Amino acid sequence: MSANGGARVAMLVAPRTIELREEPVPLPAPGGIVVRVRAALTDGTDLKAYRRGHPQMPMPTRFGHEFSGDVAAAGEGVTAWREGDAVMCVHSAPCGRCYWCANGEEELCESVMSTKILGAYADYVAVPSHIVARNLLRKPGDVSYPAAAFLEPLACVVHSVSFLAPKRGSVVAVLGDGGFGILHALVLARAGMNAVLAGRRPERLALARELGVDAIDTAALPLRDALLERTEGRGADAVVECTGSETVWESAPELVRRGGTVSFFGGLPGSSRVWFVAARLHYDEVRLISPFHFSPGDVRHAYDLLAAHAFPVIRLLSRTYRLNDIATAFDELDGGAGLKMLIEP
Ligand SMILES: [Zn+2]
Repeated sequence: MSANGGARVAMLVAPRTIELREEPVPLPAPGGIVVRVRAALTDGTDLKAYRRGHPQMPMPTRFGHEFSGDVAAAGEGVTAWREGDAVMCVHSAPCGRCYWCANGEEELCESVMSTKILGAYADYVAVPSHIVARNLLRKPGDVSYPAAAFLEPLACVVHSVSFLAPKRGSVVAVLGDGGFGILHALVLARAGMNAVLAGRRPERLALARELGVDAIDTAALPLRDALLERTEGRGADAVVECTGSETVWESAPELVRRGGTVSFFGGLPGSSRVWFVAARLHYDEVRLISPFHFSPGDVRHAYDLLAAHAFPVIRLLSRTYRLNDIATAFDELDGGAGLKMLIEP
């Protein structure tokens, strides 16, 4: 909270321009709550929006969507939560009524994107009733606020891994050494897979290795060779693309064995077209899949992993900034420094 009792909200007003605005503290909607933010994390989507805007985030826009905090106020009709409760949540929830929700594909809910909330880089976030009802969880006392803020990115990764459904013991190459790449390697390894992380940033690969990940520097060793060596010359059982680069998307089918699966986790700009060799897909039965978002079940699974302290997620946080210094945090990320930044209002 600011000195005069208002609330600060970081607004992305133009590419590479963040303004900290003063607003009244939000009031909870019926069935909703207001969270006083204790930890918010930066993420690749936020960095992309910072650099060049985002089609779903016309500027000026509030931004940031990975956060945890305490209930500051509960709206009319809310009985399960009260002021002071430590909470963690994601920024969306499915409607529970549309075709996709009824079909068990809640990540594709027709309103899950249009009813999501943004604005974690702020003193307060108003969480509406549909999210309170489906995707708000109590933060365990022994999980820190920064760790709890990993609920959303971890839910994305849990969904991605369950969508891939790899067999135990299979060799899964993860392309990209960003936060999502490292989280994938950790979740895959915990589920019994031989995860191989491929990247080019020595400091990130070193961090991954400290966390027990088999990490390959593709600047030093061609990834395909490294994978052939680990699979008696067959190629990886699966590849998960976590860079969101067209070139990497197009290279991914060449890395799997016959009958292997390529999962495109890293999104490309909406107008992108990518090219694959048809024979590779057809004669070698290479499957292409593309996981999107997550369901409330994935959120529960991610919660269980965090509550069990399955991995030291806070090791992925490079630096801590106060909300007043958020522009510096993004300037540093833009310049290539750090992996994920922690914003503590
Ligand atoms: Zn729905």
